[in-house]
Amino acid sequence: MEHVGQTVTLSGWVQRSRDMGGLTFLDLRDRYGLTQLSFNLSVNEKLCMEARKLGREFVIQATGLVKERSSKNAKMPTGDIEIEVTALKILNASQTPPFTIEENTDGGEELRMKFRYLDLRRETVRKKLELRHTLARYTRQYLDEQAFIEVETPVLIKSTPEGARDFIVPSRLNQGEFYALPQSPQTFKQLLMVSGFDRYYQIVKCFRDEDLRADRQPEFTQIDCEMSFVERDDVLNTFEGLTKYLFKKIKGIDLPDFPRMSYDEAMARYGIDKPDTRFAMEICQLNNLIAGTDFAVFKSVIDENGLIGGICAAGCAEYSRKQLDELTEWVKDSKRGMKGLVYVKWNKEGIKSSVDKFFSPEQLKSWIEAAGGKEGDLLLVLAGPLEKTQKALGELRLELAKQLGLRDTPGYNPLWVIDFPLVEYNAEEGRYYAMHHPFTSPNPEDLPLMDTDPAAIRANAYDLVINGVEIGGGSIRIHDRGVQQKMFDLLGFTREEAQEQFGFLMNAFEYGAPPHGGIAFGFDRLCAMFGGVESIRDFIAFPKNNAGRDVMIDAPGAVNPAQLKELGLKITE
Ligand code: ASP
Repeated sequence: MEHVGQTVTLSGWVQRSRDMGGLTFLDLRDRYGLTQLSFNLSVNEKLCMEARKLGREFVIQATGLVKERSSKNAKMPTGDIEIEVTALKILNASQTPPFTIEENTDGGEELRMKFRYLDLRRETVRKKLELRHTLARYTRQYLDEQAFIEVETPVLIKSTPEGARDFIVPSRLNQGEFYALPQSPQTFKQLLMVSGFDRYYQIVKCFRDEDLRADRQPEFTQIDCEMSFVERDDVLNTFEGLTKYLFKKIKGIDLPDFPRMSYDEAMARYGIDKPDTRFAMEICQLNNLIAGTDFAVFKSVIDENGLIGGICAAGCAEYSRKQLDELTEWVKDSKRGMKGLVYVKWNKEGIKSSVDKFFSPEQLKSWIEAAGGKEGDLLLVLAGPLEKTQKALGELRLELAKQLGLRDTPGYNPLWVIDFPLVEYNAEEGRYYAMHHPFTSPNPEDLPLMDTDPAAIRANAYDLVINGVEIGGGSIRIHDRGVQQKMFDLLGFTREEAQEQFGFLMNAFEYGAPPHGGIAFGFDRLCAMFGGVESIRDFIAFPKNNAGRDVMIDAPGAVNPAQLKELGLKITE
């Protein structure tokens, strides 16, 4: 309103036009929003006729007088004013866009991605990228204040195992050899610590050739950090600080101190290492209540030290046969592989259960009560080997929470998950895998177990989880050549393989490597969390689709035979 009476020049795109008798109105869109332009037929007929010919998405420049609008639009920041145009210049024409450039567009996902540059003109999408920028800016601000320095690390490197497949790049100058794109700058940031940089960060692209999901992209961005002369709590405090800072600056929210939970506790209570703690519905261990049973299925699970665990769904005693059958199929499918699902309903008529031939109503009631339930509730019980059953219960918990709307619980529940196992045993392959990555240090007190009981070693590793989403993870690293060598031994590397792949790091450890540790936050996911949506794609200017394709530029694509020849490559069918 403070511009009323001034003459201004605006440039932008024609969003929409309306003819109303002697008047024509155009909505002009630029990065900051919409402004109404008005043309009066009786004042300037030529100009008005020109305006009437403008199509959607034409790029124009308009000069005119700022006037107070007679019919104000409270939904627009510029809704109180309009520009009475006195001069108009068409800067470029436009074809009719393939979908409407408005908040609720009629363009489907594929079409919008093909014309992503038009999709990005939509305010909702632009706002998401602005949020991303703001998050990056505050992240840098915080880390700068904490004396971190940003250092770029190379993109053409050698494989760093972080549990995913590498993207590889053939070398023309060294035919038959390949670079790998970094799954993360892990080894480089550790080397920077050996160099004495002390506090490093980088907002950096990482590449992982994995199967894609809504919250995964083959190239994604991390806030990657490393610190020297620190212990676990120093890292946790620094990055809890960053998280609180971002929530305060961007959402105006003061987060309380983040609770810490061991991996074992997370698995026992929530069946997952990234629990959504906005709602309870915790796993209740029923083994003790059921001990001594003759019911063969449960008896064998107890005898084999398995788990009989229940989840209580509040207010679900009226779930239908069909709903229960669907959940049963769901727990039995190949992903979860459970043998079946036992239910106990407690409603006005009393207790009803799929196992009421084997247990008395009092017994069944005691199970529901143990799980924190009451009349009106439904208890779902799974039984089987401990870890498998915990995981299935964890998934069942989330599925029920989805059905009950609990995953939309407002608020943010951050927590640190700590004390992960260092390694995981793969029975099929008969070998151990690093749970985080091979540079993670064992908890100091568990070091002796490296020789005796590797599976029992706790890693000095930590994940930041908010509302069931893993926002970041890291660890205190090994900084001793001998321990690193032992770790590679444990993971089944021969001495030669370890030397060949990671000799540079182990050698560096022999030249005064300080104790160090760090963390990386998934930046796209963090953006999605602040934006309140699940998909990270909206927060990436030019994302890939579920098949890993960029449908706009049509990548990946074939290369011409001359290029292949130059690289010494041949495509075999
Ligand atoms: N490099 C690790 C990752 O990308 C993070 C870390 O350990 O700092 O998950």
